[in-house]
Amino acid sequence: MSTNLADKVGGTVYERGDDGFAAAAAGFNLALQPSPDVVVAAGSVADVVEAVRFARAAGLRVSVQSTGHGLEKPIDSGLLLTTARLDHVRVDPETRTVAVGAGVRWTAVVEAAAAYGLAPVTGSSPVVGAVGYLLGGGVGPLARSHGFSSDYAIGFTVVTGTGEVVEADEHRNPDLFWALRGGKFGLGVVTEMRLRLVELTSVYGGSFFVDSPDIERMLRAWVDWTDGADDRVTTSVQAAAYPPLLEVPEPMRGRRLLSVRFAFPGDPVEGERLVAPLRAAAPVYLDMLGELPATQLGRIHNDPTDPIPAYLHGTMVDRVDQGFATVFLSALTGDSPFFAGELRHLGAATARDVPGGSAVGGRESEYAAALVCAQPELFDTVAPAAAAHWDSVAAPWISEVNNANVVTQPITPERVAACWPDDIRERLGQVRRRYDPDGVTLGWWSP
Ligand SMILES: Cc1cc2nc3c(=O)[nH]c(=O)nc-3n(C[C@H](O)[C@H](O)[C@H](O)COP(=O)(O)OP(=O)(O)OC[C@H]3O[C@@H](n4cnc5c(N)ncnc54)[C@H](O)[C@@H]3O)c2cc1C
Repeated sequence: MSTNLADKVGGTVYERGDDGFAAAAAGFNLALQPSPDVVVAAGSVADVVEAVRFARAAGLRVSVQSTGHGLEKPIDSGLLLTTARLDHVRVDPETRTVAVGAGVRWTAVVEAAAAYGLAPVTGSSPVVGAVGYLLGGGVGPLARSHGFSSDYAIGFTVVTGTGEVVEADEHRNPDLFWALRGGKFGLGVVTEMRLRLVELTSVYGGSFFVDSPDIERMLRAWVDWTDGADDRVTTSVQAAAYPPLLEVPEPMRGRRLLSVRFAFPGDPVEGERLVAPLRAAAPVYLDMLGELPATQLGRIHNDPTDPIPAYLHGTMVDRVDQGFATVFLSALTGDSPFFAGELRHLGAATARDVPGGSAVGGRESEYAAALVCAQPELFDTVAPAAAAHWDSVAAPWISEVNNANVVTQPITPERVAACWPDDIRERLGQVRRRYDPDGVTLGWWSP
C-alpha cells in the first residue's frame, strides 16, 4: 500500500509486520501501543507534506507523535507520523527567541537557551515534547509567574490537512496562529515553532515532602495558603504511594508522602521567606528546596522519565477549600486505583491572555487536578469508574471547561469538546475546516 510513499520520503516508512514497526510507533504510555496501518518517521518538512498528501488520497487519518506522552487513546488505524527526527533547536540570542523542530523535547531547548542565560517557559517534565505540549497551552512550574507556555509562541510552520506548507504568526494566517496556541487537535502538522525566551538562570525552588501522618495537615494548610499567595510564586502538591521497588529512591520507597513543589523566580532570601509558612505547617520529612539552576526546573516535579503505563484523569478546578481537600484525600485512600493525585495552583499570569487572544482552554481556572493510576489491569473499568465518581463528588469545584493537555482517557469527542468554552470551540471549528477541510489531521480524535 505505502510502497510508493516509501519512494517519495527521505525518512522511513513502516507497515504492520515490518521489522521496527512496533518500536517506531511506541510512545511514553506503555499501556497504549499504537497499531496504525503505516508509520512514517519523517526526516524533513517535505516528508510531512508527502505523508499528509498520501494519507488524504488514501482516506487515512494522520496522527502525530513526537514522544507519545500525550497518547490518550489507542491508535488502531491510519497513518502515524512521528516527528522525532525533526530535532533542530536554533537560539537567536539577539532577538531572544528560539526555533524548535517538531520532535524536540523541552530538555534540548532548555540546554540550548541556557548557554545565553535564557530559558523557555516549559512544562514540569523535561522529556515531554515541546510542540505537543505547547499546542495545548501548557502550564508548568512557572505557571503563575510566567503564564501558559503558548503565550510565548511567536510563530509556527505548519503542513495543513491539504498538504500545503504555511506560516502562522501575527501577520500570516493569524487565525491559525490564534488556534495553535491552545487549540491543539486537527490544525495540521506543526513542523517548527518559534518562541520567546525569558531571562532566567536560576529560581528558588524544588520540593519538600511530608510523611503519611502529616499529609492531611499539609494539604489543608496548602489549600488555605494558596488563597492570596504571592503572584510570583507557583506551587503544587502531589500525594503519592510510592511502590516498594528498588528503582524508587530509598527515602520514598514503600511510603505514602505528600510533596509540596515551589518555584519563585527571584531572590532566594525572599523565596525562603515566602515558603516559610508552608514549611512550618507540618514536620518536613525530606527537603529538596533551595536555589535551583534554570536547567534543573524538571527537579521541581520530578516526573517519571522512563516510559510507564498510565491512566490519567485530569480536570481544571475553579477554586479549592477544605471541602475540596476532603474529597481529594478520599479519592486517594481506601481501595482507590489512583496511586497519585496532584493539585496545581494556577491564576496570576495564567489568567492574562496574550494581546489579540489565544485558544487556550481553562484560562479562567485557578487550579488543576490530576489523578493517576499505573495498574493496567484497572484501566478499562475500575479507574474510569473511580474517575466518574471523582467527577460527581468534586463537581462543585471542577471547572466547566477543561484543558487539552489534561483531557482524560478514554478520549471521547465530548471530552475533547469540553476543552474550550463555546465561543473558542466554534472558532476553532472554523479554523480547522479552513486548514484541514477533510479532517485528515484530526488523527485518533474522530468526532
Ligand atoms: C509525565 C508527564 C508530564 C506532563 N507535564 C505537563 C505539564 O507540566 N503541563 C502540561 O500542560 N501538560 C503536561 N503533560 C501533558 C502533555 O503536555 C501532553 O500530553 C502533550 O500533548 C505531550 O506532548 P508530546 O509531543 O510529548 O506527546 P505526543 O503523544 O507525541 O503528542 C501528543 C499530541 O500532541 C499533538 N502533536 C504533537 N506533535 C504535533 C505536531 N508536530 N503537530 C501537530 N500536533 C502535534 C498531537 O495531537 C498528539 O496526539 C504531561 C504529560 C506527562 C505524561
